[in-house]
Amino acid sequence: MINSVKHHNFLRNLPFVFIALVTVLALPQCYGQDTEKKEPSTAIWGQDPVVITPGRENAPPSDAIVLFDGTNLDEWESTKGGEVKWNLEDGGMTVVKKSGSIRTKRSFGDCQLHIEWKSPAVVVDDSQDRGNSGVFFQERYEVQVLDSYENITYSNGMAGSIYKQHIPLVNACREPGEWQTYDIIFAAPVFKENGELEKPGYFTVMQNGVLIQNHVELKGLTVHSGKPHYEKHNSKEPISLQDHGCFVSYRNIWIREL
Ligand code: MG
Repeated sequence: MINSVKHHNFLRNLPFVFIALVTVLALPQCYGQDTEKKEPSTAIWGQDPVVITPGRENAPPSDAIVLFDGTNLDEWESTKGGEVKWNLEDGGMTVVKKSGSIRTKRSFGDCQLHIEWKSPAVVVDDSQDRGNSGVFFQERYEVQVLDSYENITYSNGMAGSIYKQHIPLVNACREPGEWQTYDIIFAAPVFKENGELEKPGYFTVMQNGVLIQNHVELKGLTVHSGKPHYEKHNSKEPISLQDHGCFVSYRNIWIREL
């Protein structure tokens, strides 16, 4: 008796089941296709970006220029002229006090730079004398390198600052002695023929994967004293690493021209 009622109900509902099935089958396979039919297409075909192979765990992608892989200093020279006097050891290079800053033999304009650094594990001194170095774009514009792990100094001179111009959004520093990463996007300033500034430079910086400078405007030379100002230079200039008298090490440096 119960089975017979169930069977009767099923037959009575059969037309609705059929209508529901037809409706589902008639729907477009995905919403995107439906939209494309109703509106003028905004899809761009045939402009696919160049295919590259991204590196794993901070290794350079296939289209990068490797500036330092730990094996040699071929891409670098002393800013005093001649060979680099820094120590090459354990896959990194370490500042030798008073040997001078170093710079790339090549010159760069707009670029994306990956660089890893560490300050000495044994902490000596404080403020600006603790693990001070710097990555200078076009030998003029410094992204500060400093041991800013529990180290008080002026805020616009801490690690990740655009020196004396922009304080980092957060302090993303690891402990001294640990390797840290900077991924920096640099838009070079543009000058008119007469030396006037046409367009300022810009920095975006990630430290250890964390955004610390978000497209900030460069105000000119990152000078220690006085107000920053621009002085005309070539559209491409070397990148330099600072000898500030501290045993800071660098490794895994690669760059992509933009
Ligand atoms: Mg410095």
